[in-house]
Amino acid sequence: CGIVGYVGPKPALEVVVDGLARLEYRGYDSAGVAVLSDGRLETEKRAGKLANLRAALEQTPRSADGIGIGHTRWATHGAPTDINAHPHVDNDNRVAVIHNGIIENFAPLRLALEERGCKFTSETDTEVVAHMLGEELKERGDGDLAAALRSVCKRLEGAFTLVAVCVDDPDLVVAARRNSPLVVGRGDGENFLASDVAAFIAHTRNAIELGQDQIVELRRDSITVTDYDGAPAPIREYHVDWDA
Ligand code: GLU
Repeated sequence: CGIVGYVGPKPALEVVVDGLARLEYRGYDSAGVAVLSDGRLETEKRAGKLANLRAALEQTPRSADGIGIGHTRWATHGAPTDINAHPHVDNDNRVAVIHNGIIENFAPLRLALEERGCKFTSETDTEVVAHMLGEELKERGDGDLAAALRSVCKRLEGAFTLVAVCVDDPDLVVAARRNSPLVVGRGDGENFLASDVAAFIAHTRNAIELGQDQIVELRRDSITVTDYDGAPAPIREYHVDWDA
């Protein structure tokens, strides 16, 4: 339902949770975040309102600076529970993924992953993407999360906005879209992404809309957009001049 990503010098957790709050009007049944801090991937997710997530976050203070992603879920596959809430992670807890939309061919993908020894924890369609990314990164061995996401997206059917972070590259947020919205916010030494500009308009009004079947790599000082084959795509930037 709602998606937020941040890379920059501000406390990522605050920026992300605040962004999710600005998307609350869209409705949701659960919420979660992932942050990279001290080379570790930490996730927290809760069914119910954002207040439940905030309460859980307060119980485990995190030093999270730099990078984070957040999601408010509107369940399509699997009940609205803590476990089914996003982000979802791979079995090594190296990659975290959030997702809007529906992966139509998740059932055969899940079966194939399970046959290769993958352990699933949720009932969502989304979790296959976390394991596919983990597997792809292991096979590649070069830590190239964007390349891994390109390869995974080519095997997915349906509608999705996907956002991922990986412990191997603590300055990078990658995202992909097909039949589901994704907007990037270009800041000064920081960058944002979201399902809706309302999530980052308090920080920047320079927005870039991603095209169909494109991938964006977001770092503090760079925004790279490519198609699923890795070919560079033109960046269409515009100014958001309405008030959120
Ligand atoms: N299909 C996914 C799920 O049920 C994502 C739902 C959403 O767009 O929030 O977990």
